[in-house]
Amino acid sequence: MGKNSSIEWTDHTFNPWWGCAHVSPGCENCYAEAWAKRVGEKVWGAKQDRRFFTGKHWNEPLKWNADAESGKCRKRVFCASMADVFELRSDLDEWREKLWGLIDETPSLDWLLLTKRPQNIGKKVPWTKDWPNNVWLGTTVEDQKRADDRLPILLQFPAKHRFLSCEPLLGRVDLSAWTRHRPKKLHGIDWVIAGGESGTNARAMLPGWARKLRDECQQSGIPFHFKQWGHWTPVAAPRNEKSTIHKFWDEVMGMEIFMEAKGKKISGRRLDGAIWDELPATA
Ligand code: SF4
Repeated sequence: MGKNSSIEWTDHTFNPWWGCAHVSPGCENCYAEAWAKRVGEKVWGAKQDRRFFTGKHWNEPLKWNADAESGKCRKRVFCASMADVFELRSDLDEWREKLWGLIDETPSLDWLLLTKRPQNIGKKVPWTKDWPNNVWLGTTVEDQKRADDRLPILLQFPAKHRFLSCEPLLGRVDLSAWTRHRPKKLHGIDWVIAGGESGTNARAMLPGWARKLRDECQQSGIPFHFKQWGHWTPVAAPRNEKSTIHKFWDEVMGMEIFMEAKGKKISGRRLDGAIWDELPATA
């Protein structure tokens, strides 16, 4: 079965609806909002309606599940790339119920529920102690404040895998408050994804921030996935001024860093010469 998503760390993406509203700095250049606008959908903001889908759309994961079963290979589904599953609106409740039913019907798919609103998880999921084996629960941690606010909430839920999406990474993130003094794998963080922002208005991700996360993951036994540099990539100090090169102070590395706006494709996804594609061992 072919890959049905351009996102490196998943096989498929599924959206139970389209639309959302900004909640934190990571939302500033929301790619989903830009995409929805481009295709003429007015579904962004607290006051806008959301876009819902017919049965055909909802049947797709059933097909992916059948293919996964016949290929004897589990597949990952990212839910949701065009919404936040835990946005607190009553018009979303019936669709959330439908989603929980779909997750139940597709045991060969691992559902990656990623949210910037972990404070709403407990109010909306039907599970308490026994979470289904095929749910991975994640929260976005774009900076230290979001780590401090969201990570303790995420870790309250006994999902099979709990993961962090540090993308777009907007600052230094120190996870040691959760990993320090805890034996490997007992800190409860099963996977960390990191990446820089893409698009012309993107904010740069400094190399020290990415390295710090990678090193901390390595020391704590957490699989690390480096998705991309994004729009900005580190370069050597320029001999002449160039408008696409900017100077930053990298507080982790304690030095000036030059970053060039080269675009996501050219910037690539190598960190210190290596591709970081780690996954939880059971994946
Ligand atoms: S929570 Fe996610 S989908 Fe919603 S506005 Fe923020 S970045 Fe976009």
